[in-house]
Amino acid sequence: MDRSFPEIKTFFGFGCMRLPMIGSEVDIEQFKEMTDYFINNGFNYFDTAHGYIDGKSEKAIKVALTDRYPRDKYLLTDKLTEPYFHSQEEIRPFFQSQLEACGVEYFDFYLMHAQNAVNFEHFKKCKAYETAFELKKEGKIRHVGLSFHDKAEVLDNILTTYPEIEVVQIQFNYVDYDDPSVQSKKVYDVCRKHGKPIIVMEPVKGGSLVKLPDAAAKVYEELGDGLSNASYAIRFAAHQEGIRIVLSGMSDMAQMKDNVSFMKDFKPLSEAELGAIAKVTAIYKGLDMIPCTACHYCVEENHCPMDIKIPELFACLNTKKVFNDWNQNMYYGNLTATSGKASACIECGGCEAVCPQHLEIRALLKDVAAEFEK
Ligand code: SF4
Ligand code: SF4
Repeated sequence: MDRSFPEIKTFFGFGCMRLPMIGSEVDIEQFKEMTDYFINNGFNYFDTAHGYIDGKSEKAIKVALTDRYPRDKYLLTDKLTEPYFHSQEEIRPFFQSQLEACGVEYFDFYLMHAQNAVNFEHFKKCKAYETAFELKKEGKIRHVGLSFHDKAEVLDNILTTYPEIEVVQIQFNYVDYDDPSVQSKKVYDVCRKHGKPIIVMEPVKGGSLVKLPDAAAKVYEELGDGLSNASYAIRFAAHQEGIRIVLSGMSDMAQMKDNVSFMKDFKPLSEAELGAIAKVTAIYKGLDMIPCTACHYCVEENHCPMDIKIPELFACLNTKKVFNDWNQNMYYGNLTATSGKASACIECGGCEAVCPQHLEIRALLKDVAAEFEK
């Protein structure tokens, strides 16, 4: 673990991408309860981005957190995301709108969002990094960092180009550790080489490492310690050298209580637990699931002209495959009654351009259609 940024009280952060919902609105009362529980248990790090829940995450943070707590009680991270600026001139007004939406005068951390080889060129051209460093000098940002979704050599290039970057947020979990596309371990090694503290996102891979297939869940049950599946995944990330904070995108009070129970007094993994994680990884990889993290980037901002609910359709196929759950046929019918079927894809490629997991969505939708539209 890493001890930089002493203002961060613990090794655990509240990712506000998957907040509790009532229909299409954030369940503010539950979010307030979760916020209170988190802070009362000694945690203080919150993470958001403008695109999360179509702008509703930032606004909910104002109501549940920043209107209710003094500024020194919490740290808030926000991000600069590609679709929201087309030139350097557009960055400052967008940044200001984020401060206002969140109800704060400054961000503790401000990250260049979801950097990859393609959008890094856009950020460079618009002098996004330079603008963030200026905002830091003006006191409106305390620390500048980036979040990252690409190959290790791309990160190496970014950190060489902008050595002033203070922190890097990466996707890191036991399944993606040696994945050839996500490259968690190689990306982690680049952060270490450049001496950058690391923030971990997707420790439970969008929930996939929580709802495990029976054979994998049994491996953890046999440890006999009564801990949740999430605990092994989150502690696996927190266990590594150089990790400053692990984010969890908690969606209800039960998840919050569970996560707090093992992160409040963090204990590194034992040899037996590491062995169990290795077994679960092998089982998980044998299942051939679609590695979608349900981030929803592909469906936000009207990316899909056919209104195909891509992550939900992928989840249907995964669940049917892994759990032999025939109810998924009914869910698929319900889901596509008011939105696009998988077969409606016109292969425009808009979704693939923004998928941080680099999934071949068009081809995968054909698999979904073959399963559910026979
Ligand atoms: S490729 Fe298909 S699923 Fe992707 S945005 Fe275009 S129509 Fe939608
Ligand atoms: S398909 Fe890609 S962009 Fe869409 S939800 Fe899944 S991981 Fe995110």
